[in-house]
Amino acid sequence: MDEIAEKSDFIRDIIREDLGKSKNTKKIYTRFPPEPNGYLHIGHAKAICLNFGIAEEFNGKCNLRFDDTNPTKEELEYVQSIKKDIKWLGFDWGQQEYYASDYFEKLFEFALILIKKGKAYVCDLSADEIRSYRGTLTSPGIQSPYRGRSIEENLLLFGQMRDGLFADGERVLRAKIDMSSPNLNMRDPIMYRILRSSHHRTGDKWCIYPTYDWAHGQSDSIENITYSICTLEFEDHRPLYDWFIEALGIHHPRQIEFARLNLTYTVMSKRVLLEMVEKKYVSGWDDPRMPTITGMRRRGYTPQAIRNFCQQIGVSKADSTIDMAFLEHFIREDLNKKTHRVMGVIKPLKVILDNYPAGAQEELDAINNPEDIEAGTRKVPFSKTLYIEQDDFMEDPHPKFYRLSVGREVRLRYAYFIRCTEVVKDKDGKIVEIHCSYDPLTKGGDAPDGRKVKATIHWVSAEHSLPAEVRLYANLFNNINPLKTEEGGNFKDNLNPDSLQTVKGCRLEPSLRGAKPGDTYQFERMGYFCVDPDSQNQETLIFNRTVTLKDDWAKIKTAG
Ligand code: ATP
Ligand code: MG
Repeated sequence: MDEIAEKSDFIRDIIREDLGKSKNTKKIYTRFPPEPNGYLHIGHAKAICLNFGIAEEFNGKCNLRFDDTNPTKEELEYVQSIKKDIKWLGFDWGQQEYYASDYFEKLFEFALILIKKGKAYVCDLSADEIRSYRGTLTSPGIQSPYRGRSIEENLLLFGQMRDGLFADGERVLRAKIDMSSPNLNMRDPIMYRILRSSHHRTGDKWCIYPTYDWAHGQSDSIENITYSICTLEFEDHRPLYDWFIEALGIHHPRQIEFARLNLTYTVMSKRVLLEMVEKKYVSGWDDPRMPTITGMRRRGYTPQAIRNFCQQIGVSKADSTIDMAFLEHFIREDLNKKTHRVMGVIKPLKVILDNYPAGAQEELDAINNPEDIEAGTRKVPFSKTLYIEQDDFMEDPHPKFYRLSVGREVRLRYAYFIRCTEVVKDKDGKIVEIHCSYDPLTKGGDAPDGRKVKATIHWVSAEHSLPAEVRLYANLFNNINPLKTEEGGNFKDNLNPDSLQTVKGCRLEPSLRGAKPGDTYQFERMGYFCVDPDSQNQETLIFNRTVTLKDDWAKIKTAG
């Protein structure tokens, strides 16, 4: 599915309507506002495609803004990875790279304005007290005894907070709104806390830090954002953001919420993903099983496929969970068009062609990509000793098994018909090799006498083949919703112990010599595979299986 000319969804409809009202003079400004406290995941890709996509379509601009208000959880490594991943997805923020931390001074001034208007106060309650005074959804909160402080005292204390006169957590600045509001976010939310922690950009300049709720809306306003597009959980924060903006009398972006992306068998919570990395349930943020952009890149997913997926899922107000198979469908669709086909045997079984002359070899023509004739052909060497897939041979075939067994004939892709004559086993009864005869008249894959075979299998020439390791992946979790556990349980109870299977001793056709990390191929019949960075400077190529060839989603679609 290619990108269509005019995209439509409820957000774009709102924008078109606004544009109509303003006689199209309105400039569209969006932003993607990650918190640099982890790597981006496929859910972020949805938000990136949406914000950058809208800016592109409506001839506007999209800022990249790091909402870096929490120095204890944020790092430069995350900033760099976020930039790399957005670029890789194919989006460009140009010069508009911003940081909420660049607005710390401005936000401080805004806070002074609110204090002067009697709309903010310094509160000495402890964090626990603030929590218990806050009330619940069914009961109103209790006003802080410090709520009545004079403007002068608040200005003095807030200045002293900034100057470091108090210990961490000793005081906070709160908005003075409404302790009995049905919306808990409006019950005098915290704007500043005292926190002695070095910030990755401002160093030790500040010992008070704005909360996300205080920083976010004002940052959008400072940047003249017109559409502040965010996920549904911020719907309840909107009245607070509106209140701040109104109280300050500054530019008012329009906030629009959409449903976040959820995918089956995986998690999108950065907190959980971080724990998986830290506790080594995965090899890192770029583990190919992770739903992160960097993991997907390493796995062999393409930016185009991810963008196509994001476009097809669209945006809505209703929470839903998308089938992982749907994402994989787009990966296959894109790789099908782009990748060269090669032959690689994952679990080799040695085949000796008894009637093929010893020491002889020939070069057979193979098509690189039937979907793309311009991709041309290549030569594949053929000789007396080959490897085929163990699974393509059965000593006692069941009725539905049409591939090789003793006495039976199959086609070797791009080569000849072969017939199995004998099985050789070791003393334990394990098959070590099989013997076959080949029919020289069937070169290229057809018999002049018109006889048919029921299967075509892939192979490599033993002496010409290259060694490889492949990593086969299954879902990281066993449960459709990994966060759903028995009482007292945790996501790790749902980890799939078989999500990674490493297969060594694979053999590949020699055209793969020199393949580089990131190169992707279709191994005929076995799936799409991508060279892993671990291959660098190794004798043995290491491949990740990006995805199998079987398209469950296409099947679901026709079935249902
Ligand atoms: P956490 O996992 O800690 O909740 P977050 O999702 O809030 O992290 P941010 O860095 O704040 O992470 O996200 C940046 C932007 O990406 C936000 O605008 C957020 O709404 C959006 N976003 C995050 N997760 C998803 C998701 N699953 N689907 C769509 N958009 C998302
Ligand atoms: Mg967030």
